[in-house]
This record gives sequence, C-alpha cells and structure tokens, in this order.
Amino acid sequence: MAIPVRRDGSARIVLLGRQGSGKGTQAAKLSMTYAIPHVSTGEAFREAIKAGTELGQRVQAYLDSGELVPDDVVLAVVRERLFGPGAPEGFILDGVPRTIGQAEALAALAEPRGIDVVVDLDVPTEEVLRRMSARRVCGNCGANFNLVDNPPRAAGVCDVCGGPLVQRDDDTEEAIRRRLELYEDATAPLIAWYRERGLLVTVDATGPPEEVNRRLVAALDGAAPR
Ligand code: AMP
Repeated sequence: MAIPVRRDGSARIVLLGRQGSGKGTQAAKLSMTYAIPHVSTGEAFREAIKAGTELGQRVQAYLDSGELVPDDVVLAVVRERLFGPGAPEGFILDGVPRTIGQAEALAALAEPRGIDVVVDLDVPTEEVLRRMSARRVCGNCGANFNLVDNPPRAAGVCDVCGGPLVQRDDDTEEAIRRRLELYEDATAPLIAWYRERGLLVTVDATGPPEEVNRRLVAALDGAAPR
C-alpha cells in the first residue's frame, strides 16, 4: 500500500464493512480530509429511484428486498462516474465492490495506477444490528445520522441541508437480515482477496464516529492507529 495516502485529490480509497459499519459517515469525512469525491453506489441507486429514471426503475426491487443489484448494472455506474470523460483522479468508494466479480472489474478499470488502499471497517454483527435500527438518513441530501451515536442537532432535521430525516426503506428487519447474509456470502471474501494483494488495512470501527475517524486517518496517514 502507498502510505501515507496523499491529500492532493489523487487518493483512491475503497471502504469495506458490513451494513451499519459507518461507511457512509466515514466516507463523507474522508472525502473532505483527502479532497476526493465520495462515491456510493447505494446512494446513486437511491437518487435514481427518487428521480424515477430508467436506472431507478431497474434497481428498485433489488433495493427494496435487500438483494444485490447485478454486477453489470453496478459496473456501468462505476465506469460512468469514475472512469468516464472528466472523471476525477481520486475517489473514495463506499459500497462497491461487493462481489469478487466487481473487485476484478474495478481492478481492470483502475489500471494502470490501481487502487491505493482498501479499508475494512470492522464492527461485530450485534453492534451493526443495533446501529441500523437507530439509523436515519436525510430524505433530501442523503446525509447519515444515528439517533444514538451521531444524532442530528435538531430532532428529525438534517444538519447539512435542513431536510427531513427518515428511515431507509431497506432498513426493515427482513431486508437487514438478508443484506447481512449477503455481506457474509458475497462481500466478506473480498477481505482476503484484497489482503492477498497487499491493499488491506483493518480499522476498528466500534465507538463514536469521531473516534473511528481518528483511527482511520491515522491508519491512512501511516501512523500507528490510536
Ligand atoms: P448501501 O447504501 O451501500 O447499503 O446499498 C443499498 C442497496 O443498493 C444494497 O442493499 C443493494 O441492493 C444495492 N447496492 C449498492 N451497491 C451495490 C453493489 N456494489 N453491488 C450490488 N448491489 C449494490
């Protein structure tokens, strides 16, 4: 891994971690620290559904049931946003790749430079279940909050844009169970896949977001995690 990760807008970071591990929250913070765009495929799909686009219609049933969107659809979004004309040099990926097939395709797309580092945000399953039931997102800008660990300043109102905070449609008990099951089957194998390629850094993601952020930045900057 290229340590320390550069802060000049060229860093390429992938965040892995179970649903509820804080990927969205931490990616938004890292995006500012490292001056790189935060790209979330889940957020891209939710926006497309809200806007009623063809992509939105295609992916809605997958999101509602917690199933994975097929790789070709995911990769078309990644290709367009990250490797199309005018695409940024650096980025932080949140929620992609989620399968070995997506990781292989991403590696090919990212040639010749490749990805700098893959961070696994490590949180036990019991903890993510607790976090997901308290999770709220802004219905307007998509910012993430948690009623227990990361509450908004005013109840029900987004700190970023003043939009209404809502529970995600796929944060139902059934969809959460299915998504965690899929994480273990399809996504967890990526941890070993990236470790074998010398790209993996594991960060303890338990505790309040600010504390996790300090550990993350310390790991990315090459200092000993605190
Ligand atoms: P997230 O916001 O990352 O939890 O993603 C929400 C939902 O979007 C997931 O439950 C999947 O249905 C879909 N999704 C997002 N990213 C991917 C991906 N890389 N591969 C397959 N499905 C995805």
